[in-house]
Amino acid sequence: MNKITIIAGARPNFIKIAPIIHSILEAKSNMVAIDYRLIHTGQHYDNNMSGSFFEELEIPTPHNNLECGGGTQAEQTANIMVAFEKELLAYPADVVLVVGDVTSTMACAIVAQKLHTKVAHVEAGIRSGDWTMPEEINRLVTDSITNYFFTTSHTANQHLKSSGISYDKIYFVGNTMIDTLLKQRPNFKQPEIWKTLNLSRKSYAVITLHRPSNVDEEYKLKAIIDEIINHSGEMPLLFPMHPRTAAIFELLNIKHSRLHPIAPLSYLEFNYLVERSKVVITDSGGITEETTVMGVPCMTLRDNTERPETITEGTNELIGTDPKSIAPSFKKLLSGQWKVGKTPELWDGKTAKRIVNLLTKL
Ligand code: UDP
Repeated sequence: MNKITIIAGARPNFIKIAPIIHSILEAKSNMVAIDYRLIHTGQHYDNNMSGSFFEELEIPTPHNNLECGGGTQAEQTANIMVAFEKELLAYPADVVLVVGDVTSTMACAIVAQKLHTKVAHVEAGIRSGDWTMPEEINRLVTDSITNYFFTTSHTANQHLKSSGISYDKIYFVGNTMIDTLLKQRPNFKQPEIWKTLNLSRKSYAVITLHRPSNVDEEYKLKAIIDEIINHSGEMPLLFPMHPRTAAIFELLNIKHSRLHPIAPLSYLEFNYLVERSKVVITDSGGITEETTVMGVPCMTLRDNTERPETITEGTNELIGTDPKSIAPSFKKLLSGQWKVGKTPELWDGKTAKRIVNLLTKL
């Protein structure tokens, strides 16, 4: 495989593709016959959710931007499919490489396979078992038409095997999101708010929420925020807000002296805050992996996870979506009882190299 079309559409995708592109460029400079075409589907498009990641993570400008932002799940899937079919017909590839579980991942995998182009899925095989999550549908569909499965964990391998995928198509390579984290850790950047609020290490919490189950109903979001405020002692609460959440949060008019709603941060600024925080409260998947590697306690406000190793090995705990479960978790944290984790196997910063090496041999 030496002509690789790489798909990226949303924030977590950019973080996962950066090391893959850098490894391809490195191989190319060592005379390996490999090249890539980067397609941005436009699913996330503003600077906070897209542009800053390209700058900070030194991702080269995409060869094509399909500009398919906005719309319902179905509209977005359809728009991306129509636009990507034209792109792939104009620029055929040996393999289309998709990452993660966003709408762009699924839409482009379908287009590729229908045009008889092989599909490689990075972060294949993870499952929450929760079909109400759009991401779970994206994972199931993508993996059902993937040729090469690059996985982050043994549980992912197991899911694929039990769904009938033959062992020789599964490549346990590790986690490209962690490649980026380990590479960028020395470059984390102090955000302005650090000085404005006079923050200090391990004295504040970071909150991120964007799953429909937590933020789409106003009363639920309000109950969660109220519980966090009531049980977090004296901690400042920094809440970089996903655009989906911001739209609903505005309607709630919640104000508290310790609650600081802010715009989404750039990658280097966000992880500067996370690395030094006392705790992260989140419903993100990727962030539970990053807190695991940085050893930061993490409370996940979900009833399930597709990343169980962040719990069995890492610092993450699944505390559920019932706001009442927040109080006991803070009690545990503030009394110093939170577990200490370890980094899962192969989350070592070398995953992208493994993937590119395998692609050149396939
Ligand atoms: N992130 C960021 N700025 C923020 C919030 C998150 O750079 O204000 C990064 C975070 O470090 C992680 C990724 O975005 O790498 C996670 O994205 P998200 O939570 O949107 O997606 P998920 O992992 O849930 O699919």
